[in-house]
Amino acid sequence: MGKLLRVNLSQGKITEEPLDADIARDYIGGAGLGTRIMFDEVPPATDPLSPENKLLFLTGPLTATTFPTTARYEVCTKSPLTGIWLDASSSGQWGHFFKRTGYDGIIVEGASDKPVYLWITDDHAELRDASTLWGQDALAVQDSIKQEVGESKASVATIGQAGEQQVLLSCVMNDDGRAAGRGGAGAVMGSKKLKAIVVNGTKRVKAASDDAFRNLARQTAAGLAGALQAGMTRYGTAQALDTGWITGDVPVKNWSTGIWKEGGIKLGGKRMADTILVGQDACLGCPIRCTRRIRIEQGPYQMEGPGPEYETLAMFGTMLMNDNLEAVCWANDLCNRYGLDTISAGSTIAFAMEAYERGLITKTDAGGLDLSWGNVDAILELTRLIGENRGLGAVLGQGVKRAAEKIGGDAPAFAVHVKGMEVPAHDPRAFFSMAVNYATGPRGACHLHGMPSIFEQGLVMPEAGITYKQGRFDRDGKGLAAKIAQDMVSVLNSMVVCIFAGMGMQPSHVGAILSLVTGTPYTAQDVLRAGERMVNLQRLFSLGCGITTSDDKLPPRLLEPTTEGGQTGKVPDVAHQVKEYYEVRGWTPQGVPTDAKLKELNLEFASAGGRKVKKGRR
Ligand code: SF4
Repeated sequence: MGKLLRVNLSQGKITEEPLDADIARDYIGGAGLGTRIMFDEVPPATDPLSPENKLLFLTGPLTATTFPTTARYEVCTKSPLTGIWLDASSSGQWGHFFKRTGYDGIIVEGASDKPVYLWITDDHAELRDASTLWGQDALAVQDSIKQEVGESKASVATIGQAGEQQVLLSCVMNDDGRAAGRGGAGAVMGSKKLKAIVVNGTKRVKAASDDAFRNLARQTAAGLAGALQAGMTRYGTAQALDTGWITGDVPVKNWSTGIWKEGGIKLGGKRMADTILVGQDACLGCPIRCTRRIRIEQGPYQMEGPGPEYETLAMFGTMLMNDNLEAVCWANDLCNRYGLDTISAGSTIAFAMEAYERGLITKTDAGGLDLSWGNVDAILELTRLIGENRGLGAVLGQGVKRAAEKIGGDAPAFAVHVKGMEVPAHDPRAFFSMAVNYATGPRGACHLHGMPSIFEQGLVMPEAGITYKQGRFDRDGKGLAAKIAQDMVSVLNSMVVCIFAGMGMQPSHVGAILSLVTGTPYTAQDVLRAGERMVNLQRLFSLGCGITTSDDKLPPRLLEPTTEGGQTGKVPDVAHQVKEYYEVRGWTPQGVPTDAKLKELNLEFASAGGRKVKKGRR
């Protein structure tokens, strides 16, 4: 759309500015564009919860086009959970209706002294009072706001009570339980007293080569529907629980054991389909339809709404030795309402249960709760306490790293995180490439910023140097696998397209899509270089925030071999993998991008220490 909105909440001022065409070409949009804006505008020492931090809401060149899975948006900021770079992506339809207002993104800066929300229609934005909305949960408030603006079709991105309380596990929520989940962007929004951004755009978004692009979009949609219909549509991401226990990919009991087959099957996609599933749902324009709609008609957890996906089922299920599917659905709904990241919340509760078992947290500390493994009542109450920032929840809501430091003793030995980010539900002992991917991930441990295990499951990418299927326990080759996966996902998060559609795409295919939509030619190498540029600039930002090579590691628990399951006795050699990774990235042995690498990537304006030394092309 060629323009950005800048919203200064301290001054109550809204301005428009043009999107720089050179920056747009080099950084594409979404997370890539956010990387450049954050690097240029936010000094690395900034307190993430201060008015000086910025919160960006960005779309990409594919958003609101006819290309499938592109109703998404990206939130970028400095994370209050990790203290480093953060981008988080969400689906639904908010990105679509925001871009159709005529803007590519919003830069939110400063902080309001009273709750406000931002209301954006075609070429128009205004701040409104949100005093009566503050305190409402992230689902209920959407109806309240739609009523207030008189537009039932408007789309709302909002925080729940957790974000208001600046709980570090809080998300930005939108539409029906969608979340820009990880890293605490909700707390940044809460610190700015910005309750919501409501959008209702009607403009048409056109591709540069409209007819050719439409044809490509149609072909891609048909391909996605055909290839993925059977699995993702029928069983959703929950299908990973039906089979993931075979390889040992599913985390169990705070990562302490390699298998819980019975639990996995009771929580899996097939059982959900056979019991509580009432339909499949989709983000706007997506033929894959991985979203679950569930109805529970009896018992203590009666509800109807969005169902949990794989990560939530693992984190509130197998990680807690809880095989009660309906209770996991209830926990998911609680997290949606408070605005909590289910991965970090479930993982933190698992940590608390192990601390309780070891006597590091007592029943008194837990406010009378019995935190024994699988105690559903305690799991749900602890979720409420985290969401409301009360009691033990106020400690756990800071994430496992800070909670372990506060609890002391040997708690850090079983606090599973990388750089403060709780690890998602894919065990790096089962697919070794995930080890270096977690250790070096731009926002901490993450499966959405690279899933190199696809190269251990058969995908090859000759244009990027991945020419053979890697063995999942191979010692060598994991550094390159992680680099390519991270670079490619960075481009997908910049376009902005769902990784379920884009993860298997070859660089030349991505280049063809970008060329048709933007009118600027992108080769396969342009695509790979763009991804590499983003990851390098994110690295420089985080180096400036204080991380060093000693942070590029896995937590001790993930380096202990398990004695049963599909990864029995296996432990990745992370130090070797990280060395490989630095080498293929062209970084020094200390994990710092070299001047030669910066020059190659058009990043001469950035010094290797993570600080800007001269103004870039802007
Ligand atoms: S695959 Fe699932 S998450 Fe991705 S766009 Fe489609 S419905 Fe949304």
